[in-house]
Order: sequence, then structure tokens, then C-alpha cells
Amino acid sequence: MAALKDGAAVRLFERSRFPRHKVCGEFLSPEVAHAFEALGCWSEFLALEPSRIRRATLHFGARQKRARFEEPAFGLSRRALDHFLFERARAMGADVALHKWTSEREVGAVVATGRRGPAPPGDRLFGFKAHFRGPVDDSVEMFFFEGGYAGVSAVEGGATNVCGLAHESALRACDFEFEEFLARRPGLGQRLRPLERATDWITTGPLVLAFGPEPPGAQRVYPAGDALGFLDPFTGAGVLNALLTGRMAGRAAARGLEPALYLRECRRVLARPFRMARLFRAVLASGWAHVLAAPAPAEWLFRWTRPRCELS
Ligand SMILES: Cc1cc2nc3c(=O)[nH]c(=O)nc-3n(C[C@H](O)[C@H](O)[C@H](O)COP(=O)(O)OP(=O)(O)OC[C@H]3O[C@@H](n4cnc5c(N)ncnc54)[C@H](O)[C@@H]3O)c2cc1C
Repeated sequence: MAALKDGAAVRLFERSRFPRHKVCGEFLSPEVAHAFEALGCWSEFLALEPSRIRRATLHFGARQKRARFEEPAFGLSRRALDHFLFERARAMGADVALHKWTSEREVGAVVATGRRGPAPPGDRLFGFKAHFRGPVDDSVEMFFFEGGYAGVSAVEGGATNVCGLAHESALRACDFEFEEFLARRPGLGQRLRPLERATDWITTGPLVLAFGPEPPGAQRVYPAGDALGFLDPFTGAGVLNALLTGRMAGRAAARGLEPALYLRECRRVLARPFRMARLFRAVLASGWAHVLAAPAPAEWLFRWTRPRCELS
């Protein structure tokens, strides 16, 4: 969309058929408002009636940390969001090709093909998600437990997203029965009790959490979003980063900027979120998060994992 706004002719390859569900917490960081404004589709985004998320609660066993967002975050299903962005690009004049893009030697393409593998051997990580029906509120709740974490927050239409990420060994102990797995985690069972599942569970993985390595042909193309690197989902910033770097990539491609300069700027913008997420991940893995997180306001986790740039 950014390249189209810059007057470039755009051919958009997409191998999925929309609308479709996707494993994601579907929490959209407050800054997406500025990103959508910059892309000229803020009022159209609001017309999708995303839920407003004003509060966050982080659960570390029996301990909790609470925060209030200065500006509201949003909850919108990927079924709605991805379809919206795709149709918006088409309406703006993108020539759409509904099949896989394979030309990795192509010069000047924006490569937003999502996460890349392969996962290293060991206790692999998987993500899972379902929508539930029941009482909704304006908070996102994150439950951290041994072997993973899960988030609960409202999306559009009165639905609640329940999305988790856990090590294979922990999931295998419950035969990959996600509801049973979550019900056994401290605090989560109680949170989910009034809710009734409305969709099947979907899964994704194995997940590789890292910035880079650069995709094939990175010296000639503009990788964006998860193709640059996959940030820990507990940050709730993946979609924001994809919107931001997608816009940077579109503009760079339209203006013929040297891909190396574009990549350098991405590294500058994303270095802190990736560094801080790695640090928080290590704290979580240590099993001491409930103690180490005690003196730190929950807002810090939020602020330190945001990209360093102007979005408008
Ligand atoms: C368990 C989990 C929970 C998460 N929770 C959140 C959250 O709450 N909030 C948040 O902001 N982020 C969250 N994320 C991260 C977020 O989902 C990603 O950061 C975001 O989807 C990245 O967008 P993207 O466009 O780079 O990649 P994707 O969303 O993966 O999009 C890539 C697109 O490219 C298409 N594609 C791939 N290869 C090709 C090809 N060769 N040719 C044509 N098309 C192709 C795919 O079909 C897909 O539509 C979560 C991720 C996981 C795994």
C-alpha cells in the first residue's frame, strides 16, 4: 500500500485464500492507529469495529502486574485484518496474483512472506489459538507458566481470543489437548471457565524467535515483517512491526533505495525490541519472573519492546 501511495505499479502475490483464520493473539498495539493513518485507511479500519483494549494484566503464578494503556490497543481477528489489508491493496490498484511467489532472484521486490525456519533441534515451540464466546472486558491478560504462556483478549463481534505458545514437551504431556493444557495452568483455568469455545483450535510452528538470518537474495530485495525476524509474541508487537517495516519497504522499493540501506534502517528501528524481548524471554525461562518483574512497572515491558521510530 505504501508503494501504491508513492505511485509505483504493484503486483501482489498471495498464496492464501482470504478470509482465513491464523494463529495470532490478535492484539494490535495502540501505535497501529498511526500506521493505518499513514496508509490512509484509519477510518476503514475502525469500520471493522475492533474491540478496544485499555488495560493489561500480566500473571506470573499467583503474582499479577497491571497496567493501563495511554491510548487504547485493539483486538481484531486476523480473519478480518488480513482480508481487509488484502482488499485495500487491491482497491488501491495492486495487480493481484493468487499464487506462490517464487522468484527469489527478482530484484526490488518487497518480501513479506512471514516466518522462516527451520527450527533448531530440541524442545520445539508451537503456537495455538481458538475463539471463545462469553463475557468480554477491555483488558488483555497474559498468563506466564513453565513451558510457555497464553493471552486472553477480546476481538470484534464479542468474541474472545485465546492464544498460547508452549514447548512441545509440555503440550505432549497433555496429548496436544489445548483446553486441558490451559485449564491446568495456574489462574488460566479460572479465567476460561465462563467461556465456551466457538472455533476449532488451530496451530502453527515450530517457531523460531530471532532477528534474521537474512532471507535469500536479501541484498536485492526488501524483506519486511516476520521475514526480517520473528519477535516473541508476548510483546504483542508483531503486526505493528509488519505494518511499519512493510511501509518502509514499500517506500524504499518505489523510490529504488539501496536494499542494504533499507536493511540498516530496519535494524536500527527493531534492534531494541528484539534485544529486550530476548532479555524478557531469558527472565521467563529462569523461572524467576515473578520475583524479577516485581520492581518493574508493566509499562516497561510494553515500552521497551516497541520499535524506535515515528509512525506517522
Ligand atoms: C502464537 C502467536 C501469537 C501472536 N500474537 C500476536 C499478537 O497478539 N499481536 C501481534 O501484533 N503479533 C502477534 N504475533 C505475531 C504476528 O502474527 C506476526 O508478527 C505477523 O503476522 C507478521 O506479519 P507478516 O505479514 O510479516 O507475516 P504473515 O502474517 O505470516 O503473512 C505472510 C503472508 O505471506 C503469504 N505467503 C508466504 N509465502 C508466500 C509466497 N511464497 N508467495 C505468496 N504468498 C506467500 C502467506 O500466505 C501470508 O498471507 C503472534 C504470532 C504467533 C505465532
